Amino acid sequence: MVDTQYNTPITFVHKFETNDIYIKREDLYPFSFGGNKARKGSYFYEDILNKKSDYIVTYGSSSSNHARVIANIAAKLNIPCMIISPYDKKKETYNKKINDLLGAKYIFANINEISSVIDKTVNNLKEQGYNPYFIRGGGHETLGTKAYIDCYKEILNYENINNTTFDYIFFASGTGTTQAGLCVGNYLNKDEKNIIGISIARKSEYGKKIIEESIEEYFESSETLRNSSSSNIKKKLKFEDEFIAGGYGNSGDDIKICIDKIMKNYGIPLDETYTGKAWYGMEQLIKRNKIRNKNILFLHTGGTPLFFDYLNR
Ligand SMILES: *Cc1c(COP(=O)(O)O)cnc(C)c1O
Repeated sequence: MVDTQYNTPITFVHKFETNDIYIKREDLYPFSFGGNKARKGSYFYEDILNKKSDYIVTYGSSSSNHARVIANIAAKLNIPCMIISPYDKKKETYNKKINDLLGAKYIFANINEISSVIDKTVNNLKEQGYNPYFIRGGGHETLGTKAYIDCYKEILNYENINNTTFDYIFFASGTGTTQAGLCVGNYLNKDEKNIIGISIARKSEYGKKIIEESIEEYFESSETLRNSSSSNIKKKLKFEDEFIAGGYGNSGDDIKICIDKIMKNYGIPLDETYTGKAWYGMEQLIKRNKIRNKNILFLHTGGTPLFFDYLNR
């Protein structure tokens, strides 16, 4: 265990439609403005140290929390970081400004050329004698899944200490390893929570397929699970695509009202790209499915710099 893996607090927020809503503050994960990318990042940090890599290459847009965390890990390790990024029309974002401060370098490319640019970059670095470490966008790797299996244990630990049980976990789901990890955690611990990912961009069919692949990859990577079937986990997958509000980075008035309400009443910053959609989606699903008298955990996946982008609009 390295000095970068931590627990995050769970606190009570309010009663909503007779349910008790709690929040797990992954946004307070104590590295580089926190969030699920910081938790995943701590596992990459350890792996980079073990592999003695001397260059990090990753993918991320200008809003990417993942790219920021990885740039910060590279800075901490005092090795260079190259971010392959799609051209986008967004003005300066805070994540981009932080990356500049951290000394990350960028290669911009058209979205359909990204994977070939990544291959070329990694190969060039190898030819130059580097030992590069590549991380897929969003920290979409088996280590990312592992991070959220361990996070699930933290949640169970909280339940044991506080003599309570959460019936539901809601959160923003994107590239999918946060959800894959929580679902595998649920399975490994023979637990029965409803785990509901609110899609921030992908339609259900594609989003689910990617999460299923992450679950399978994790099973294959694990000596104890390699010969087990993951079909029961896959059957229970819940990935809701109704709240994507026009896709990645887009939002709507309902989501903005929700962000303002949660900040004013509880001092918790949400954002338009991820957590605002998830909170809004959670409220809608509670109402529509008439969920009553349950204990509900909202996993706040982070993105604090995006809250400041929201203020800048
Ligand atoms: C990346 C991100 C997500 C989605 O996490 P995945 O593991 O990619 O599904 C959710 N919320 C925030 C704030 C993020 O940065």
